[in-house]
Amino acid sequence: MRETIAFIGLGNMGGPMAANLVKAGFSVQGFDLAEAARQAATDNGIALCNTGAEAVEGAAIVITMLPAGSHVLSVWGELIEVARQGTLMIDCSTIDVESARKSHALAKAAGCLSVDAPVSGGTTGASAATLTFMVGGETDAVSLGRPVLEAMGRRVVHCGSAGAGQAAKICNNMILGITMAGVCEAFVLGEKLGLSHQALFDVASTSSGQCWAISTNCPVPGPVPTSPANRDYRPGFAAALMLKDMRLSQDAAKSTGVETALGAQATELYELFQELGHSDKDFSAIINYIREKSA
Ligand code: NAD
Repeated sequence: MRETIAFIGLGNMGGPMAANLVKAGFSVQGFDLAEAARQAATDNGIALCNTGAEAVEGAAIVITMLPAGSHVLSVWGELIEVARQGTLMIDCSTIDVESARKSHALAKAAGCLSVDAPVSGGTTGASAATLTFMVGGETDAVSLGRPVLEAMGRRVVHCGSAGAGQAAKICNNMILGITMAGVCEAFVLGEKLGLSHQALFDVASTSSGQCWAISTNCPVPGPVPTSPANRDYRPGFAAALMLKDMRLSQDAAKSTGVETALGAQATELYELFQELGHSDKDFSAIINYIREKSA
């Protein structure tokens, strides 16, 4: 048996990630507020605890996978009170850079090591242990966490100091949000010009328009059989999560004074889509909104 890990936040992502740690031979002590998550965790061999603090008892490493920065700061604030000196704190949630840096500072003040390690790859990657981790923190903390992250993912990229993982995640997802909007506009324009979906796909997926939004998550049914468009846009990556990440990018742009006109426009698009009640659809479903607006 390898060392003991405390895992807090056993939802859609955290649940399967913690299960993969168990499969890799770690002893995992878990905690979540939600009953459904608690039940699934027990079924996956995680030792369930009644509080986060109880889960941290005897753990060398603590992982959090929570909805937003406020949750991470409040949970870390509680956990570092009971974590022993030298414990490695890893946050895998997607949160704002400022909260990430504050959580690093909390850990440091308590004599703990820390990394921010948000992920890309979604629930499929979480289940298959193929996630990409974007990691921020001191080199010794990253080295200590690497074997644990490698048990849950395929790639671990050390992006820089505290908060750099979150910075990389936010920038990457702003690219994704913008490119998907552009790809959806291009497919609707192609339709109006009498171009078949397959013809546009065959050209764009092998030309300078090539990107993940076309080649993997193509927003029209047909060309990429595994894309959400083939199953009525069941996610995949839900529009609500895309909007969350776009808002994080816009908050970061505002606080750094960076002009992100395209990021702002794409954010507005996902906001409108959410207001129309489609936030549970894959984000590529915005093609339907663009098509309706173009009718
Ligand atoms: P989720 O809502 O399914 O899981 C979050 C869990 O945290 C819930 O089970 C909730 O009960 C628990 N929780 C909240 N507050 C808590 C507390 N104080 N103590 C203990 N447990 C608490 O969300 P998710 O889809 O697993 O996403 C988690 C994080 O991963 C988010 O930051 C999200 O942006 C990020 N993310 C999600 C995806 C995805 O495809 N779902 C992909 C990449 C990144």
